[in-house]
Amino acid sequence: MAKRNMLRSTANAYLNFPLIWKLLIGLAAGTIIGLTFGEQAAVLAPAGDLFLRLLQMLVIPLIVVTLILGVSSLTPRNLGRIGGKVMGYYLVTTFFAMALGLGIALLVHPGRGLSVDSNGAEQAEEAPSLTDVFLNMFPENIFLALSQGDILAIMFFVLIAGFALAYMNDHEDKEINEGAQIIRKVFKTGQEIVFLLVRGVLEYSPIGVMALIAVSIGEVGVEALVPLGKLILVVVGATLLMLAFYAVLLGFFKASPIKFFSAARAPMLTAIATRSSSATLPVTTRAANQLNVPKRISSFALPLGATINMDGTAIYVGASVIFVADTLGVQLTFGEIVSVLMVGVLASIGTAGVPGAGLIMLTMAVGTTGMSMAPIALVAGIDAILDMARTMTNIVGDLTGSKLVAASEEKAAKKNKSTAEEPAGSEAS
Ligand code: ASP
Repeated sequence: MAKRNMLRSTANAYLNFPLIWKLLIGLAAGTIIGLTFGEQAAVLAPAGDLFLRLLQMLVIPLIVVTLILGVSSLTPRNLGRIGGKVMGYYLVTTFFAMALGLGIALLVHPGRGLSVDSNGAEQAEEAPSLTDVFLNMFPENIFLALSQGDILAIMFFVLIAGFALAYMNDHEDKEINEGAQIIRKVFKTGQEIVFLLVRGVLEYSPIGVMALIAVSIGEVGVEALVPLGKLILVVVGATLLMLAFYAVLLGFFKASPIKFFSAARAPMLTAIATRSSSATLPVTTRAANQLNVPKRISSFALPLGATINMDGTAIYVGASVIFVADTLGVQLTFGEIVSVLMVGVLASIGTAGVPGAGLIMLTMAVGTTGMSMAPIALVAGIDAILDMARTMTNIVGDLTGSKLVAASEEKAAKKNKSTAEEPAGSEAS
């Protein structure tokens, strides 16, 4: 009996301890374990994989329920406007991020001092062509897309199904009308269920974070960290600048950066540990709710962002291309740098939010310059560390986007309201 009471009170103490502290402790413990035990830390891998599995298990149900609910409450015009804003933001910030990575690396030249023999060229994984990326958005078989976790294809189907559901609200047949209401109610309950599951999984997250970090740091090892430290510093430095840029953007739209980053802490730590924007999606969605981003915006902007908006990855590609050139002693021309910029931005659209995806983008970008792929092997050695920084930035970028779009929609709604209240004859918006 006493034993059971003790167990219960330990469990309660754990549950009542703030999540963010538990996550930070997990992160610190994982780093220490990884540095101390090196590759032996791999014994913890199953504990980390369990966390990843639990998160991934929730991604598709989350996208389906939130997106269907979000879209079915929108008119096509509203969705078009919100979609336009979201896409515009994603493109502009990705360009900026890529330029930031390239610019800082051109100032610091992180690869000088290391030299790589270009003969032992590394065969890199093929990146999909842009036509394939586009066509794959339209699923031939929705069940296949669901079972393969093909996010863009699932989003496309759910979007049109959501629209169709919205139409049923005005259907002349009363029965169909009522049926549509029931479907919406079912999805609404489904959404609450998924959110509850996310809360549960998050209680396990500190242990998962500890294990994932220990394994990644153990794999990379201190030996690799030192010579490639400059590249790590450049990427981490540029991602911090990017975070500052988001803070400025938020301030510009009168959203408090302090509140924003305090809500963003949990998804940021989850992204660092999982190195996957898609796996972090349930936690990012929860943060968007805490930031009062309407679900009609977050349900659309966040899954889309997790798949196509990768500011951190763009920074990494920019900086690493310069690193590769440095180690080969190549001086890139301005034209080559511009083509790297364009390819990098486009490639980021086609890359999935999974660990290590950025490395494929890097190969694509290096490929456009015609340089040897050999130094990519060096970058690959520390990719786990760089992936932590870039994935964290990727999800903050998505969250910032949804918050900004929400703020601008709110502003437009207020303006419309005040113009509607103004006497006739005053300026219309
Ligand atoms: N891991 C990153 C993400 O999920 C993608 C990348 O490898 O750059 O956002």
